[in-house]
Amino acid sequence: MSNPTVVIVGAGASGLSAARSLQDSGLVDVIILEARNRIGGRINTVTSSGYNVDRGASWIHGHGGGNPIYTIATDNDIALVDCNYSDTVLYDFDGTDITYTRLPDIESEFSEVMDYVATLQDDTNRDQPLSNGITEGVADLGWNTWLRDPDVGTRYLNFKCQDEIVHEYAADTSALSLWWFDSQGEFPGSDKLFPGGYSQIPNILAEGLDIRLSSPVASISYDPTGATVTTTGGTSFSADYVVVSVPLGVLKAGDIAFTPPLPEPTASAVGLMEMGLLDKYVLIFQTVFWDDVTFINFASNTNGYWPQILNLDKAFGTPGLMVFAAGSFAQDASTAYSDAQAEAAILAELRIMYGNAVPTSATSFVRTDWSHDEYAWGSYSFQPVGFEPLKDYGALQDVISGRLLLAGEHTDCLNPATVHGAYESGQRVADAILQGLAVGAAVPQPVVCMSDVSTSASARLSLFAVVSILFTSLAQINS
Ligand SMILES: Cc1cc2nc3c(=O)[nH]c(=O)nc-3n(C[C@H](O)[C@H](O)[C@H](O)COP(=O)(O)OP(=O)(O)OC[C@H]3O[C@@H](n4cnc5c(N)ncnc54)[C@H](O)[C@@H]3O)c2cc1C
Repeated sequence: MSNPTVVIVGAGASGLSAARSLQDSGLVDVIILEARNRIGGRINTVTSSGYNVDRGASWIHGHGGGNPIYTIATDNDIALVDCNYSDTVLYDFDGTDITYTRLPDIESEFSEVMDYVATLQDDTNRDQPLSNGITEGVADLGWNTWLRDPDVGTRYLNFKCQDEIVHEYAADTSALSLWWFDSQGEFPGSDKLFPGGYSQIPNILAEGLDIRLSSPVASISYDPTGATVTTTGGTSFSADYVVVSVPLGVLKAGDIAFTPPLPEPTASAVGLMEMGLLDKYVLIFQTVFWDDVTFINFASNTNGYWPQILNLDKAFGTPGLMVFAAGSFAQDASTAYSDAQAEAAILAELRIMYGNAVPTSATSFVRTDWSHDEYAWGSYSFQPVGFEPLKDYGALQDVISGRLLLAGEHTDCLNPATVHGAYESGQRVADAILQGLAVGAAVPQPVVCMSDVSTSASARLSLFAVVSILFTSLAQINS
């Protein structure tokens, strides 16, 4: 008797993780259909002037505690370097270095504001935009006299919000849920960067897999006996199980037609969760003219104006700068600036900091545009007001008709928006399929949201988690 067939849509970290486990089990045949002409999805190392540049993920967030990406890297002798986030310099809008003058006060005042936000998370009975909590915190405490000066305080408040929140969650504070924006778990230990590029990870996962590149999937029909997956070119594949590992943005755009449509509550969860935006602008130069620190920060008078720059020389010895834009500023910049205009604007910002040492152009310039990428439609997921983690992640993890499973960073309750979260989601669907082979349909896995979530969120999540696991166990008993 031949093995059951699993078709996996998408060859990013989640799809490759699922495929790897399923194929290694020897119990199923696996085919991956990937729209792009490359694997890796939102992991994508390119070369610029001969140097490796990561267009998507750069960091392993937290190398301790069994982070699976760190394990793959070390098992395969991939070189990694530490990233020290406190090794920074902060320039004011006029080019004054305020690292040792104003920054310590800004840091401590902002941390008081965020302590206030943490109290609100536990005390309020209604979710609201994170920006409301920050505004309340600034009005109520902290933000001492000189920071209350509107010309000064607003600039630094915006800078800290960009640096610590908008660039991390890829969304403005007004778009994020006050309750849930920081409810993710995290692995302990320092963050690591890949001198040889993050794409080494998907390349290892993909070894020996049957991956059909340039095969965008247009439609999937399914019922309790199996599924048919059809590409835009009209080629159809019959499957016993389908894993849909495309980004949330692709699901939200309706780019894949499901027959029948995705059921409730999954469809609502897809509609509710949002896709954020983080873009990168990488400039390589002939010579290094900037500070020998890991991060160069800029407190602009224009909110969001390229506040965060990773020094690639300090990280890798690459004579370049990785400049970040996030949230609504990144969205605006993606249409407002041509490549030449974006490069000129960044060079102008650098000139405020480093004067005439800055050349008139970079040797090479790489720019991402994730919000217009038709196979992503954004950078990674975030939790808006109204999102309920246990309910909505539970819905995203539902096994649909026993045959259709969603994977991807946006389905991982504990570590969304990361490579390790995407990887774990692939393991979850692979386990569900392998356990289901005996009973003829995939088995729901417990919704895992708890072990390491931040303290303020954990109390709110724990009750939901217990209920959810009970619910899932009941579903398993009934199936
Ligand atoms: C700029 C940026 C920086 C980031 N930085 C970090 C970081 O430092 N550390 C970290 O841990 N995470 C980071 N992330 C997030 C991380 O990259 C993602 O969470 C993770 O790679 C997502 O993996 P995935 O498998 O869920 O999705 P993807 O990698 O997007 O894979 C989905 C695949 O589906 C394919 N696809 C889409 N539509 C179709 C279709 N119709 N038919 C067939 N295939 C289709 C896509 O081409 C893609 O290959 C970053 C992301 C971005 C964009």
